[in-house]
Amino acid sequence: MEITTVGELLHWSYANLAMAHSAVAAKAEKYGRTHFMIRSRLYAGLNRQTMNIGPLADDDRLKMMLPQACCYCGRRDSLSVDHLIPRKRGGANTGDNLVWACRSCNSSKGARDALQWLAEKNQFPPLLLLRRYLKLAIEMARERELMHVPLAAAPELPFSLSSIPQAFPPPNQVQLWVVEISQERGQEGP
Ligand SMILES: [Zn+2]
Repeated sequence: MEITTVGELLHWSYANLAMAHSAVAAKAEKYGRTHFMIRSRLYAGLNRQTMNIGPLADDDRLKMMLPQACCYCGRRDSLSVDHLIPRKRGGANTGDNLVWACRSCNSSKGARDALQWLAEKNQFPPLLLLRRYLKLAIEMARERELMHVPLAAAPELPFSLSSIPQAFPPPNQVQLWVVEISQERGQEGP
């Protein structure tokens, strides 16, 4: 399968996220037929616009329910508000884009993009953090009418196009959230 446009890349990552989410929620060791089917259906549906991403309101409800902790390391103290898509790069100053980060992660990350910073540390983002990031990225790409633009022609964006994951680790190697969350809280799929 060939990914050539901004939209295809974002949709492919989002479809993989849905696959991983369903496998992790079911505590599967590896991806099976059902998970691959979730991915291929969602990918095709998103590209044909017969399916859509879930609302950011789901992520905000989850944020209210989860314990207040750094979204990168799980620390409960020295927290400050961080922009998931950096303000400096054009990320919005809205609640959708705000996450908790501890002072240590915040200063280690600096002005870098969160996904880029995690990739440099060889860490795959927790799925629910990535979900928020992808939803924000898809909204921005839609607003700028970039979904059909070839990747090679994509302009500089507030999010890091090159850090959007295209391959996901096996379900037993990814987390839903940085701290264990109860099943019913993490169940709501993308
Ligand atoms: Zn932290």
